Amino acid sequence: MADNSNSVFEMALEQLHDAAKRLELDQSTLNVLSHPEREYTVAVPVVMDDGRIEVFTGHRVQHNSARGPCKGGIRFHHDVSIDEVKALAMWMTWKCAVVNIPYGGAKGGVQVDVTNLSKEEIRRLTRRYTVGIMPIIGPHSDIPAPDVNTNSETMGWIMDTVSMFRGSTTLEIVTGKSIDLGGSLGRREATGRGVMFNTLEILKRLGKAPDHTSVAVQGFGNVGSVSADLLHREGCKIIAVSDVSGGYYNENGLPIQEMIKYCETSKNHTLEGFDGNDTQKISNEELLTANVDVLVPAALEKQITVKNAKDVKADIIVEGANGPTTPEAERILRKKGKYVVPDILANSGGVVVSYFEWVQSIQSFFWDEDEVNSNLKRVIVNSFKAVWDLAEREEIDMRNAAMMIAVNRVAKALKERGIFP
Ligand code: NAD
Repeated sequence: MADNSNSVFEMALEQLHDAAKRLELDQSTLNVLSHPEREYTVAVPVVMDDGRIEVFTGHRVQHNSARGPCKGGIRFHHDVSIDEVKALAMWMTWKCAVVNIPYGGAKGGVQVDVTNLSKEEIRRLTRRYTVGIMPIIGPHSDIPAPDVNTNSETMGWIMDTVSMFRGSTTLEIVTGKSIDLGGSLGRREATGRGVMFNTLEILKRLGKAPDHTSVAVQGFGNVGSVSADLLHREGCKIIAVSDVSGGYYNENGLPIQEMIKYCETSKNHTLEGFDGNDTQKISNEELLTANVDVLVPAALEKQITVKNAKDVKADIIVEGANGPTTPEAERILRKKGKYVVPDILANSGGVVVSYFEWVQSIQSFFWDEDEVNSNLKRVIVNSFKAVWDLAEREEIDMRNAAMMIAVNRVAKALKERGIFP
């Protein structure tokens, strides 16, 4: 179904329906969970540097708040649509539930190609979008965070904008802030660190040593570059990475640290023009089908599809991105005996440490980095174990197991609260 349609939300719904069927969830609860609680669309007029006014479209969707305040990132990308934001918000609900943190799911986005905007234009866009969605966000209702093309600086602008309107500094309105602005140590690396913990866990279960493991990573932004770096430090050989500028390959292992440094100073922070020793250029398609043990898609959704799933050679796919594998493609991977560590578990490290950051901001009491990282490890290792064990017991794949755990938790909270009024 999802491969033939352009709808990412249909893809998310299909995953929900699969889990609901296995859980024998009643139709009324499934109906509630199939609908986001709130969809909010705002016009975002921005005075450009040349004096023209451009109007962008922004969204914020809150999928479900049965287990706590909504939580989810903000994306700036030319492909942002209400359909995509709805899907991403729903996945946030399941992500928070599968790792058992007291949040519901939300997501936001502005349809914009940031590569065409100056930093000042992006700052004005961020502040205006923040004011647009301000009626529905709040430290105890909906707490944004970074996502594609947004970062700690963007979060600082959001925090400042909200604080100006409230008349008091409100650190706990966003997570993913810089350390100077009350961010958490370890938050920037948290999603990639979670990808690394999940990868080590599955390698352990499959009896494979990290230093005998080759890896390809699609996307070299926050999630992709940190995942590559940390897996490399654990002994894995990273033989291919890619970003918008294409793929980079070296069968003996890529110089990940050097590539990260290159991105810090390159135009648009991409790998464009990187020419390390013996690095070959490959296409993104070649990266996805590279001859590796582990593939980490860490760019955007719908990358592994019916078109390329049959050619994927990696035995293990650890979903750093949200929704990189279509349901149809996953059926092909499953038939081929591949293991997919699903997004809601694989990339949950970010929201787990966002939760730690929120707790620290509320208490104005900050932890050291070891405490953050060891708590993150505990949450990921325990959540992985719960998903793996259920998958073994029920003889199902890890996505279904993760979804069963998550949907069951949300459904229980919903039933205990009841439907208002
Ligand atoms: P980012 O903007 O930092 O990086 C995105 C990367 O993907 C960039 O390197 C970009 O060049 C690359 N890219 C874009 N289109 C591509 C394409 N067609 N082929 C190959 N590479 C491409 O974003 P991010 O924060 O790293 O997010 C990446 C994914 O991880 C998204 O799906 C996001 O929702 C998900 N995610 C992010 C976080 C987080 O904490 N940042 C947490 C959980 C999940």
